[in-house]
Amino acid sequence: MRTGADYTAALDDGRSVYVDGELVANVAEHPAFAGVVQTMAAVYDASCLPGSPLVDPETGRLAIFTVPRTREQHERRKATLEEWSRLTHGFIGRGPDHVSGLLAGFSSRPELFDTDTHQLGKSVLAYHDKAAAEGLWVTNSIVPPQQNPNDPTSRVRPVVLVEENDLGIVVDGAQMLGTGAAVADAIFVTSIRPLAPEETARALSFVVPIGTPGLRLLCRRPYATAGEVFDYPLSNRYDETDAMVVFDRVLVPWESVFAAGSVQVVNSQFFGTAAHQIGNLQSIVRLTAKLRFLTGVASLVAKANGRDTDMAIKGQLAEISMIQTVCEALTESAHAFAEPDEHGVLRPAGKYLYAALGMQTEVYPRAVKLLGELAGGGVIQVPSSVRDFEDPVAAEGMDVVMGSDHLPVRERVKLFKLAWDLVGSEFAGRHVQYERFYSGNAAVVRAQAHRFYPFAETEALVGDFLGTYGL
Ligand SMILES: Cc1cc2nc3c(=O)[nH]c(=O)nc-3n(C[C@H](O)[C@H](O)[C@H](O)COP(=O)(O)OP(=O)(O)OC[C@H]3O[C@@H](n4cnc5c(N)ncnc54)[C@H](O)[C@@H]3O)c2cc1C
Repeated sequence: MRTGADYTAALDDGRSVYVDGELVANVAEHPAFAGVVQTMAAVYDASCLPGSPLVDPETGRLAIFTVPRTREQHERRKATLEEWSRLTHGFIGRGPDHVSGLLAGFSSRPELFDTDTHQLGKSVLAYHDKAAAEGLWVTNSIVPPQQNPNDPTSRVRPVVLVEENDLGIVVDGAQMLGTGAAVADAIFVTSIRPLAPEETARALSFVVPIGTPGLRLLCRRPYATAGEVFDYPLSNRYDETDAMVVFDRVLVPWESVFAAGSVQVVNSQFFGTAAHQIGNLQSIVRLTAKLRFLTGVASLVAKANGRDTDMAIKGQLAEISMIQTVCEALTESAHAFAEPDEHGVLRPAGKYLYAALGMQTEVYPRAVKLLGELAGGGVIQVPSSVRDFEDPVAAEGMDVVMGSDHLPVRERVKLFKLAWDLVGSEFAGRHVQYERFYSGNAAVVRAQAHRFYPFAETEALVGDFLGTYGL
């Protein structure tokens, strides 16, 4: 199994990652990225422990790559996703556990990637096998830059095919927001938005190592450097980073090209295979774990202030817990009602899966708002940083100002600083934006929920009722 040290060493591959005006020499050693690298290295190390649910005992590989064909594999897949989310408290959205599901889905139907001109099904199988054998972290960038979406003459270009040769394809342009890309092994690039028949140059699907010459990552502001762990505990550990992904005539070898110029393949790869459904079970398992963590913080905040027996506060806590429970129930249902598709792969039930994805854009911001309401000024009633505790006299003075009868000052401040990293820090704001948009804008996400809901059944019900009486 790949260890945390193996993963960390692999990041020193000459990749071009830019942050704060600097080309980063080694992301594992840079303060913007070191925290999340250590977090993910610890997960890889956890997979090396005997009997780890992260490993599929049938294959000896990370279970996130397993194609769920039997009920046992299906159960194991959910258990392994829960373990990834438990170890990262649901804050790593695009860890190795997401694209591995897409690759598993693609490899369940390789013939979909064969066209008259390109036989790329074998690349799908070979890359899935390689990623599973090496335990690779593949993230994704599947959306074009936001600007000028419908203007083919725009100087802002999404990634396009510029050349095919014996070695592979040459691509050029940019994609928006490779979450985790700076600290992942490779990136999966395609278009999640359905393409028009004439958009053949954009009809790409491939994986490329982050260290590939010509690939540049332009990172947003890092949050891990906001302050000490005590002051920004989530920012320090879980800032998975986001970056614009720029391709300057990048050569992608045929071995990791799944589509080159075929609109048909790109438009059918996610739903013509089990990929979207398998891949997105991770999304809702992760959201459930994150909401569980948020609920725990809310409950402790209420207790820290000695208000947990107040009926109004119980009501606020209940509202947060209800959001968590609904997400958990939808996740359990998506898993329990999974049905095998015509290729023998168990697909999580779309009705529940996409209801959860559709709701997340509303309910995560709502849960954060409720936690903020509960915490009130408590998240501001804290010292400027952990250094304010260094003077024992000042620290003692703070106990009667910022402590409570339920918690000594350091513990209460520690808890409220954690709450701030969930509701008010830059990290917190990014997470709200993440849950609102990572799966597409709200209309796009709801379109999937609409697609999988059996409206005909509900219409029939009403039709029967209407038939029971006349004019
Ligand atoms: C934190 C974060 C991380 C991300 N990570 C990734 C990643 O790892 N990989 C990846 O591929 N993508 C990632 N994304 C990008 C994400 O896929 C996009 O944000 C998402 O697809 C929505 O696209 P957009 O941002 O261009 O917003 P838009 O689709 O432009 O939506 C913005 C607003 O405009 C409205 N709107 C859009 N079109 C219309 C219209 N025709 N008429 C009226 N209103 C309209 C929408 O309803 C919405 O309110 C990430 C985004 C965020 C915020």
